Amino acid sequence: MRAITVVPGEPGSAELADLPEPEPGPGDLLVEVVLLGVCGTDREIVEGVHGELAEGRERLVLGHELLGRVREAPEGADVDRGELVAGIVRRPDPVPCPCCARGEWDMCRNGLYTERGIKGRDGYGAEVVTLESEFAVAVDPGLGDLGVLIEPASVLAKAWEQIDRIRGRACDAHERVLVTGAGPIGLLAALMAVQRDFEVHVLDRAESGIKPRLVRELGAQYHSGAIEKLPPPDVVVECTGVAEVVTDVMLHTGPNAVVCLTGVAPSRTLSVDVGALNNELVFENDVVFGSVNANRSHFEQAAAALQAADRDWLARLITRRVPLERWEDALAKGDDDIKVVIQFDA
Ligand SMILES: [Zn+2]
Repeated sequence: MRAITVVPGEPGSAELADLPEPEPGPGDLLVEVVLLGVCGTDREIVEGVHGELAEGRERLVLGHELLGRVREAPEGADVDRGELVAGIVRRPDPVPCPCCARGEWDMCRNGLYTERGIKGRDGYGAEVVTLESEFAVAVDPGLGDLGVLIEPASVLAKAWEQIDRIRGRACDAHERVLVTGAGPIGLLAALMAVQRDFEVHVLDRAESGIKPRLVRELGAQYHSGAIEKLPPPDVVVECTGVAEVVTDVMLHTGPNAVVCLTGVAPSRTLSVDVGALNNELVFENDVVFGSVNANRSHFEQAAAALQAADRDWLARLITRRVPLERWEDALAKGDDDIKVVIQFDA
């Protein structure tokens, strides 16, 4: 079978390899991959700046955004042969730390967790993969191919769960949400904000194209200008990781604001008045926090959020489908790309 493999740390080493089909262990599903979403993490691994081999292996199978169809299921599994599944990415550390011990591996405290296709475990970028039943998430047949969005949506379901908890610390008068960045993560963040009945604003550099249209169709307001011109938000979901945007959002919130940082970007030095930033946070009771990854409950919340969304709108988030033999094209980022997926069953 064909698999996209890479030697972590070696730029240019990614290739379509021919591997033997994996043997399912006890409790494993055998899954035929239908679609594989790609994101910045995959690009970083291919560029050699990220990724870690599984123990005893020479190449890493890439890919962590799975939509697959179950070919074989062990007795007692929650999903049956023929059903669609998404795959959870992270596995708890073997120690386990107190968070992993209670299924909150997204909050792992010792960093010894592993991740399919990223850190110490082969990914989902092969024609056939094994998936431990307890890390499979059933995809409603009505969602179909859109199930490939469950993994990216799980990251936002986790972020929103945390935001909702923090919002509950005082009188809950939050009304206005600002999302920075209108890529797949930003648009899914905005979807979940609209589903919570907030007034939603999305800020991105793009002045035209698909991003403004998708935001407006969601019933949210689109902006491409300076952040100072926007009404002060009560909640910010920052999805760019760009240093200037991160400092801007922290300085321009309403009272009792919650700012959730979800983006990552290369290290960057910036001149910032930390005194003014401190005073803004103190005088306004603001909370700034970071959020990464997702556990099983977030994958389930993500599936429910997608289920409740408009199918046509979701379908338009997938701007390109690339057949497996042209997998390299999928990793090249186009200007009008939102989510690009590799089609394995073409
Ligand atoms: Zn842990």
